[in-house]
Amino acid sequence: MKVIPKIVLVGAGLLFCSWGFFAHRKINQLAVYTLPSPMAGFYKKNIQYLSEAAVNPDRRRYAVAEEGARHFIDLDDYGDSAIYKLPRYWREAVEKFGEDSLQARGIVPWHIYRMYFQLKEAFLLKDPERNHQSLSDLGHYVADAHVPLHTTKNYDGQLTGQTGIHGFWESRLPELYFDEYDFFVGPATYLPNVQLAAWEMVRQSNIAVDSVLRFEKNFLKPLVKTNLTLRQRVSRR
Ligand SMILES: [Zn+2]
Repeated sequence: MKVIPKIVLVGAGLLFCSWGFFAHRKINQLAVYTLPSPMAGFYKKNIQYLSEAAVNPDRRRYAVAEEGARHFIDLDDYGDSAIYKLPRYWREAVEKFGEDSLQARGIVPWHIYRMYFQLKEAFLLKDPERNHQSLSDLGHYVADAHVPLHTTKNYDGQLTGQTGIHGFWESRLPELYFDEYDFFVGPATYLPNVQLAAWEMVRQSNIAVDSVLRFEKNFLKPLVKTNLTLRQRVSRR
């Protein structure tokens, strides 16, 4: 189920975790409008909850030790071409690397698949409360998987002298430019293999890491030297 609009932007890492609250809420909200009926009707009745609860996984990070790893994957920590070599399924990945090692480097593509099963179970149990909780969580992790900086150990530009890029991309840009984004992504489509789809999200995000870092270097750094405030900087395109 493709429930999240593909918004090309950024943000990420264990410390920072994910999109800002504003963006997460908007992503979950807009995703509902891409659903086919009768699913759309079912979820639109609770769109307020789905939007508000989009940030719950980030809130849980303070209470649940394992939560942090669910929001990212440091692909470059596995060496070259890791995106093509890593085991697609959790059990195989654990056999190869061990669970501690996987958790330390982030598990978002595998966790999306796990959340998909939770949602499926909620449907089978006909439990609307559980259904909405699972969907809103799934929306959060899918949104995170679309963030390039969630797929690299250089999640805040700290390895390339660009510290702070995470917060700028995940929070400030969506807050300032939300009204100018193009959200037309067409209707949601059926995904025959959710686990492979999660990996494809991560792969596409990872391809964009270089661009994200380069744009920041070429565009923002020179402006920083002029001592403009952040808002002035991003308003003067
Ligand atoms: Zn997150």
